[in-house]
Amino acid sequence: MNSHLDFQHNVTERFLRYVTIDTQSDPESPTCPSTEKQKDLGRLLVSELKALGLADAHLDENGYVYAAIPATTSKKVPVLCFCSHLDTSPDCTGANVKPQIVKNYRGGDITLPADPSQIIRVAQHPALEDQIGNDIITTDGTTLLGADNKAGVAEIMDAAQFLVQNPHIKHGTIKILFTPDEEIGRGVDKVDLKKLGADFAYTVDGETAGQIEDETFSADGATITIQGVSIHPGFAKGKMEHAIKIAAAIIERLPKDTCSPETTEGREGFLHPIGISGALEQATIGLIVRDFTVAGLKQKEALLEHIVKDVMKDYPRSTYRMEIKEQYRNMKEVIDRHPETVEYAMEAIRRAGLEPVRASIRGGTDGSRLSFMGLPCPNIFAGEHAFHSRLEWVSRQDMEKAVQTIVHLAMIWEERA
Ligand SMILES: [Zn+2]
Repeated sequence: MNSHLDFQHNVTERFLRYVTIDTQSDPESPTCPSTEKQKDLGRLLVSELKALGLADAHLDENGYVYAAIPATTSKKVPVLCFCSHLDTSPDCTGANVKPQIVKNYRGGDITLPADPSQIIRVAQHPALEDQIGNDIITTDGTTLLGADNKAGVAEIMDAAQFLVQNPHIKHGTIKILFTPDEEIGRGVDKVDLKKLGADFAYTVDGETAGQIEDETFSADGATITIQGVSIHPGFAKGKMEHAIKIAAAIIERLPKDTCSPETTEGREGFLHPIGISGALEQATIGLIVRDFTVAGLKQKEALLEHIVKDVMKDYPRSTYRMEIKEQYRNMKEVIDRHPETVEYAMEAIRRAGLEPVRASIRGGTDGSRLSFMGLPCPNIFAGEHAFHSRLEWVSRQDMEKAVQTIVHLAMIWEERA
């Protein structure tokens, strides 16, 4: 089905240009964007979009890039937005990225040249087995690569170039959105949806080629505050109730063979302590709760409270407070009301020559928040692998398939309108 489209990809050259710009975000920073250097990439993208003829491309003061590709059809087509994030993870340095290309990959482990202890092993990265003959881009072993999400950025840019240079291809208005600070959970905090003016969006931030993700975790945070009974340790017999020990007993009672990140996969959720602090008189435990359904969240929260109550029986004069805070919700709830968003994406993936695979994300995306803000937003693959690590990699061929998927998706929405 690709035959009538004459793709001439620049996506790899773009990608190599973008990853050399350090855009690491910083969770400790209160500003937006959290790091000014994210705007360096934003400014480069705006100048490239303007050079393509997209005159309204601009970077706003919060570090968001907006641009529009005008419609080439007289049909009334919903306005689509393609979205990727500019920042890279605070978990691994993104300064002085030196990408390497393994051309025509022949299989086997890939040792990274600047640090031979860094080896992308097929045993741990079985997706490599699908990459025989492809050109694989890695780092030199000293930094992350930033394919998460500069692969998506490069793919959207390359698709934009193709659409602009092939005005005979019919599509509705296409919006482009690049966001800062996704990795620290603030990617859509300052997005101006009114200005964006899109009806449906796709984040291009998924892993394996061919995947479309329409489901994320639902997420709550739980905080348990324990008030113990404090007294001078020399006179404490039969009186002291130690808040630290109560907190430790609660952690000890959490399920061990199930319901934790290290014992679950697929569609199973978990209860996961992320912080503990305290002294004799008061202790606090922070947890995150994850599940694909709200009922599953509530059930895990009930289990947690049951454990806390049971432990507290041994400390009759101590008290506790449990607070639950909603973090985000499974975007499937919204996307199911617009099944065409997924259906058309699967058709676009097929037209790009791949077998579409529907998947769910054991985490959240900007798309889950955008969906609940009124902009339904599934996630399509960008081809990025082993993200947030020095072993991160992506292949030229997968990035090219993502570009083709974006172009076909724009065309399908016009065909079906
Ligand atoms: Zn990402």
